[in-house]
Amino acid sequence: MSDSYVNLVNSGFTKTLAKRLGLPRPAHLRRHRQGEPLVPGPVLVVSDAASGDAADAVAQRLLDWDLDVRRHADPAERHGAVVVVLTEVSAPADLGAPMLEVGSVLRGLRPGGRVVIVSRAPEDAGSTATAAARQGIDGMMRSLAKELRGGATGNQVVLTGTTAPTAPSALGALRFLLSARSAFVDGQPLRVADGGAEPADWERPLAGQVAVVTGAARGIGAAIARTLARDGATLVVVDVPAAGDALAQVANEVRGSALQLDVTADDAADRLVEHVRSRHGRLDLLVHNAGILRDKLLANMKPATWDPVIAVNVTAPLTITEKVLAAGAFGDAPRVVCLASTSGIAGNRGQTNYGASKAGVIGMVRASAADLAAAGGTINAVAPGFIETDMTSRIPFATREVARRLNSLQQGGRPIDVAEAIAFLASPQAGGVNGQVLRVCGQNLVGA
Ligand code: NAD
Repeated sequence: MSDSYVNLVNSGFTKTLAKRLGLPRPAHLRRHRQGEPLVPGPVLVVSDAASGDAADAVAQRLLDWDLDVRRHADPAERHGAVVVVLTEVSAPADLGAPMLEVGSVLRGLRPGGRVVIVSRAPEDAGSTATAAARQGIDGMMRSLAKELRGGATGNQVVLTGTTAPTAPSALGALRFLLSARSAFVDGQPLRVADGGAEPADWERPLAGQVAVVTGAARGIGAAIARTLARDGATLVVVDVPAAGDALAQVANEVRGSALQLDVTADDAADRLVEHVRSRHGRLDLLVHNAGILRDKLLANMKPATWDPVIAVNVTAPLTITEKVLAAGAFGDAPRVVCLASTSGIAGNRGQTNYGASKAGVIGMVRASAADLAAAGGTINAVAPGFIETDMTSRIPFATREVARRLNSLQQGGRPIDVAEAIAFLASPQAGGVNGQVLRVCGQNLVGA
């Protein structure tokens, strides 16, 4: 489940050969390691004329994080990140000057660098010209992300309502997108409302939280369990009895408890509630990761390939979330994170069943955001693109190779990349992110 091509084009003779032949040269991505700097060099903060005060306020907060901050572009300098504050733009003509300033330093952006644009939601604009400018930022950001190389990414924090650029939720999203934790998040807008709080310790933002992860015996689920434990959470890991040995290993590793459970069983939610109540009193975070594929063209589809995919991927998360909420088993600020997929957004040949289930998850997240907010919490989805796991290792070689390369980062993501996004959505600083779908797909080039 490793991508040896990435190693080949980054070392020795094969690196030179790939360069000469003009082959795609995906970079090693910058991933989180405790103790490493948040960004790999100075951070340039740019703005349009009207957003200068907001940019100053953001720059001050970056200084508070001990970053080396610049307010004027120097094309000779090699920046680790560029933050573009465009919260007060009022017409499309306002975008040119700041973006050309960004352009002047892009050649010097360091490997694994970041461009993050902070803007406001088009639907909140007071005039048509402002709405056009704000929507323009979306297309501009997605295009810029496709131009970046060397494992650099471009993303956007979209503030909704009157959320200030220095609100804890806005800064939390900005920090995540600047950090190595967002290695495989590229070309994405992340919508943020007021809410959330800065964690006491940025390295252990989930300290004291009780988290349940389904499908945690291997792959993405095991990575989620490890990452949440790293961030301070106490884990309950869930998987089918057939995966019991692997599940016990993960539970031991994260010093959590294992619960052998088929999430589609009628009594799944009751057993889950009983387990967390008896061991921990409550749960704070529920990650619906268990998922299956039964790919077939619709013309060949049978109930045996359709029904289980719907049952595991969407009916189980729906039922369990409803029952856990109704049982009052959540703590004061419940967080629910579901696994969607880019197949549920763009569609994928042979996956009408899977596409229905994963788009269904997105519908569920959007429709239940208000209920979770009323309970003091949030519900979001993460939509992975191509991730290197057992699930994707079974895809035929040629199809797999194409799927891997067809994104802006020209490689598959790793389970840890999905886990980092989930850990962010579970964290106190993401309290203002609700009802959203965050794609972890390296800016998948296929479909929507
Ligand atoms: P995987 O097949 O490696 O692991 C899935 C786990 O879920 C397994 O341990 C399995 O035993 C468990 N599971 C299956 N049915 C279950 C049930 N009824 N009850 C309890 N546990 C059950 O898959 P993965 O690649 O790690 O994917 C994890 C999630 O991410 C899935 O929801 C998948 O749809 C989603 N996803 C994966 C990718 C990818 O590229 N790998 C892309 C998009 C979305």
